[in-house]
Amino acid sequence: MRPVTHSIAVLGGGISGLACALRLAQAGKRVTLIEGSGQLGGLGAFFKHDGRSFEKFYHCMLPSDGPLLRVLESLGIRDDVYWKPTTFAYAHQGRFFPLNTAPDLLKFAPLRFIDRIRVGITGLYGRLVSDKGLDNITTVKWLTRLSGARAFTKFWQPMLEAKFGDRYHDVPALWFWTRFNREKGESKGECKGYIKGGYKHITDTCARVLRSLGAEIRLSTAVQGIDLDAEGRVTVTTAAGSEKFDQIVITLPTPQVEKLLGPGMRAQMPVLDTTTDYQGVINCLLFLKKPLTTHYWVATPEGGHPFDGVVETSTLTDTSDRGERHVVYLTKYLHREDPRFTQADDSIRAAWIPALKKLFPQLQDADIEASFIFRAPFVEPIYKLGQMQLRPPEELVPNKVYLSNTAQVYPVVTSWNGSVIQAEHTLDVMGVSSVPPIGSSTAALKPAKLPASAPPPRSVVVKV
Ligand SMILES: Cc1cc2nc3c(=O)[nH]c(=O)nc-3n(C[C@H](O)[C@H](O)[C@H](O)COP(=O)(O)OP(=O)(O)OC[C@H]3O[C@@H](n4cnc5c(N)ncnc54)[C@H](O)[C@@H]3O)c2cc1C
Repeated sequence: MRPVTHSIAVLGGGISGLACALRLAQAGKRVTLIEGSGQLGGLGAFFKHDGRSFEKFYHCMLPSDGPLLRVLESLGIRDDVYWKPTTFAYAHQGRFFPLNTAPDLLKFAPLRFIDRIRVGITGLYGRLVSDKGLDNITTVKWLTRLSGARAFTKFWQPMLEAKFGDRYHDVPALWFWTRFNREKGESKGECKGYIKGGYKHITDTCARVLRSLGAEIRLSTAVQGIDLDAEGRVTVTTAAGSEKFDQIVITLPTPQVEKLLGPGMRAQMPVLDTTTDYQGVINCLLFLKKPLTTHYWVATPEGGHPFDGVVETSTLTDTSDRGERHVVYLTKYLHREDPRFTQADDSIRAAWIPALKKLFPQLQDADIEASFIFRAPFVEPIYKLGQMQLRPPEELVPNKVYLSNTAQVYPVVTSWNGSVIQAEHTLDVMGVSSVPPIGSSTAALKPAKLPASAPPPRSVVVKV
């Protein structure tokens, strides 16, 4: 029997909460994981269609996602991840321009030849230059200086708008630099990974391992308040009442944390930065009888498309994970207060599907097996100059209340891997030691089994 030392509540059952809960339970803590929705996985949650589970929002891994892959190793499911070469294209005036190699960029007709060279040099420079000082210069200024005003307006600006809407102006160059460098070291070319059984396989396995370590998982239990009582114990309130814990780890996005804090908490913790807002997203998922394209991602950032990208995940996923159908996500980043965010599902379908048919004239109504609309209000923090200093601390109330959320992941890319890295930081601050993986005898990460066939050379531009 492990000695039970502390009762710890982890609030939120997305990957941040799961990663924290796992390491805490492995370290012998008495863990209660409290999740507001009916399932684990947060933004990587799934829904059922025709007997299979599909992510509501497109998800994949990169070979450079070492910390996430180590968690999968520890769960004994690392070998269920499979990898494929994937490609990217840019839609311009009814044509698709692949943008994966240096020759692709040289042939990229939407830009003048000189601008293609400058964009290419920007990509190279972005990979070679250090990140020093980049948190204090805007992406707009940095990219305009490197690529020129014309290439910025034509090429980079629509991509930034696609992610941050009209709030891209202040995003620091450091955010962009990390995207340039996320795939660094993948000399074999762009390659993405997915896991057999989908992300549900990860969350199901986490839940099983957590329960085997004695953790309690409560679903459909929204936290309504967090406070400190007169003795300084942490109180978590849900519809079932208030409960005391020795420590808590909060993993909800900051705007959702802010409204839960009671007066005792506010009096003892640093003021959370509430000036950093979050961008939301709408995904329209289409199940198709025929493929649309061979590209994993087609960027459609130019005006006229109601969505910013067409993500055909079935270029990556095996038929055992999706049946014979092809799976396409149309994606649009929007602030939750933008009127388009709350427009009715049918209005979204009525605008987006004809726009998709215009882009892919071969697509017929009869090819669409089904369509689903999903929205998430808190996805990506909208970063500002000096964001490194705005990140909330890991320890909110000494030795009692800790935070591990997407607002701290910066400048790492917000992703399952980024959340695992942040969870490790927070647990280090808590003084929770990491333990050897359960599923293997060694903590060393096996290299990703990349496809044997030679994938195309590494992407020359960055997908934001
Ligand atoms: C369209 C899209 C595409 C993406 N693509 C990728 C990708 O390809 N690869 C990748 O790695 N990442 C991808 N991501 C990013 C990734 O999903 C997130 O960075 C990650 O899931 C964040 O995890 P989290 O646990 O910090 O937050 P979340 O996933 O937001 O989890 C927070 C959890 O807290 C719960 N919660 C909220 N309020 C309460 C409350 N009051 N009480 C209890 N529980 C509460 C929520 O229900 C949720 O489960 C994508 C995200 C989106 C939206």
